[in-house]
Amino acid sequence: MVMYTVPVGITTDCVDGMNMKKPSINGSRLDQIVADARRHQEEREKGYREQALKLYPWICGRCAREFTLKNLAELTVHHRDHNHDNNPSDGSNWELLCLYCHDNEHARYINADKSLDRRRTKQDPAATFKPFAGLDGLLGK
Ligand SMILES: [Zn+2]
Ligand SMILES: [Zn+2]
Repeated sequence: MVMYTVPVGITTDCVDGMNMKKPSINGSRLDQIVADARRHQEEREKGYREQALKLYPWICGRCAREFTLKNLAELTVHHRDHNHDNNPSDGSNWELLCLYCHDNEHARYINADKSLDRRRTKQDPAATFKPFAGLDGLLGK
């Protein structure tokens, strides 16, 4: 088994189901791993996205832009602690942000993310194997 040491979580911890592009990396085994991981991630994200959209008004938490069913795809679920595995059902780790504010939020926290990832990796060994998270970054989000 190849170990992947790609940094996770820099721009990828809240892709919010928007990454539907297929990875352009060769190797069917990696493709399979990525496909499986991506499917699981999408299922999980769909779950918390739905919950968050039920809990909160459809308004960007930064620029206060309002959303309707028509443009709801541009409203994303951000994780306040940048850990997409942290999904308390009371929604305390979620924040609804439009695409632009979400990008800004992550750009501001690139350094913070790095230290967070190191901490997270220590606590949860399974978190070290996330090839799809790195691929999201390669795809440019
Ligand atoms: Zn916004
Ligand atoms: Zn986010």
